[in-house]
Amino acid sequence: MEALQISKESQLGTFIQSLVLDFYHKAPAYDKVRPQIKCDTKQWTVLAAFLMEREGIFQIISLATGTKSIPRSAMNEEGYVLNDCHAEVLARRSLLKYLISEMAKSKQGEISSIFAFGNGILKLKDSIRFHLYISEPPCGDSSLLHQSDQDQFSHWTGAKSVGEKASSKVVGITRTKCGRSDIREDQRSESMSCSDKILKWNALGFQGALLDRILQTPIYLTSITIESPYFMLDSNIEVLKRGLCSHHRLKDASKLIFVNEPILCLVQPRFLYGRYLKPDQISQPCGHSMTWSVDNSKVQMIIGNFGVKQGANVKNKKLLKNFRSDICDHEFFKAVQQFAGDEGKTYFEAKALAKEYQHKKQILQEILVGGWTDKEFKAKYQQFKLE
Ligand SMILES: [Zn+2]
Repeated sequence: MEALQISKESQLGTFIQSLVLDFYHKAPAYDKVRPQIKCDTKQWTVLAAFLMEREGIFQIISLATGTKSIPRSAMNEEGYVLNDCHAEVLARRSLLKYLISEMAKSKQGEISSIFAFGNGILKLKDSIRFHLYISEPPCGDSSLLHQSDQDQFSHWTGAKSVGEKASSKVVGITRTKCGRSDIREDQRSESMSCSDKILKWNALGFQGALLDRILQTPIYLTSITIESPYFMLDSNIEVLKRGLCSHHRLKDASKLIFVNEPILCLVQPRFLYGRYLKPDQISQPCGHSMTWSVDNSKVQMIIGNFGVKQGANVKNKKLLKNFRSDICDHEFFKAVQQFAGDEGKTYFEAKALAKEYQHKKQILQEILVGGWTDKEFKAKYQQFKLE
C-alpha cells in the first residue's frame, strides 16, 4: 500500500504504473508464470490490474495477463469455461470475486469492509475508488492511436467489426475480438473487444448484472492508466476517450444515457513482457493467461484458447469441469448465492432480474455504432443452473 498526493493526471498514471509493475516484476510468486523467453522464441503479453484507493491509500486488488479469447466451438453450456482471456477482462472478474468477499464481510458486520450494509442493500463506502492499469491500449477502437500529429489512425487494431462489415481502420465502431479473416467461423471469438467492454463498464458500472441486483448504485472507475509508445501525443487522449467513454460512438444521441468519464492517463511503456519494449526480439503472443487477486492470493494459470486451468485435457469436454477457474461464470454464480437466493433459476434468468441494468444495457447495445454480438447465440450458453 502506498500513499500519494495527486497534483497532475500524469503523476497519477506513472504512480499507478510503478505500483503495478514493481509488484509484478518483483514478486517471487510470479517467477514461474511470467511469459517464457526461450531460445529464439520470445513471447509478449498484456498485463492489467485493478487498484483500490481508500482515503489516499492505493492497493492492488487484482491482476491478470492474457491476449487470447476462445473460439465459438470451445464455448461451454455449463459456464465452466472463460470465453475471454484478455488481461482486462480476467482482472475484472477477479476484482468481482474480491467485491463478493467484501460484501460478505459487510453482511457479517465487519466494519472494515468496503461496503456498508443496511435494509438488505449493500452500498460501496464513499471513500472507496477504483483504478485500472493496462500495459497497452485495449483492443478495438481505442487501439487506433495516432503515431504522429499527422496521422489519423495508423495503428491496426486486429479486432473485427461486428459482422465484418467495416475495415480494420474505421474509427468509432464496435468490434469483436481479434481473429484473422481466413479462419473458419466456428473458430472465431464471440467476445466483444476490450474497448467495447470498458465502454460498457463506463456506462453501466463494472459490477455486472448479478451484483447490480444487490448493490444500491453501480460502481465506476475513477481512472484508467494505459502504456503506449505514443503516450506523448495529446490527441491520443481523445482517441482513448472516444473508444472508452465517448458519446461519439452512440448513433442516437437523443437516447441519452450516462457514460462515466474516468481520468485517462497515457504513460511510457515499462512493462518488461509487453510487445513494445524490444519489438525486434518479440515474435508471438503468450498463449497463457494468469490471474491473481488479493483475497485469494494463489496465482492461477489459464490456457488462453480454451479458458480452463492449465493441465486440462481440452479434448475431453466432460472433464473441463474439473479444470474450471474460480472466476468462471459457474463459480461466480455460485459465489453470489450467499446474497441472492437464485434456487432453480438459470444463470440467464438470474441476470435478467437486474431490470434497470438490463434496460440500460439494451439501449447501449442498440445505439452503439456497429452493434453488439448475437445475444441469442450467447444466451444459449447461459441456460445452466447450479449443481
Ligand atoms: Zn483485449
